[in-house]
Amino acid sequence: MQSLSDLKQRVENVDLWSYSTNDDRCDNCKFYRVIKEGIGFCAHREVDMVVGAPWWCKLWEPDAATAAARARQGAGDAGQ
Ligand code: SF4
Repeated sequence: MQSLSDLKQRVENVDLWSYSTNDDRCDNCKFYRVIKEGIGFCAHREVDMVVGAPWWCKLWEPDAATAAARARQGAGDAGQ
């Protein structure tokens, strides 16, 4: 059972927000597991809680599709 104070501490520790200021979002992070549309679970052990698709925290890392898309985009930009 997760206590509210424990959840609050984790939210603080990882700087979790219910929105993102850029294109890095929970639903394109490698730790995100879909529960249903717009709602997921963060599998990072420092978060380990339900999160929303548009949320963000400082532990964000791209999922495979996002990393590949940005690599292609970067290669395209470099060629221009
Ligand atoms: S690590 Fe952070 S950005 Fe990634 S899914 Fe978990 S809470 Fe969201």
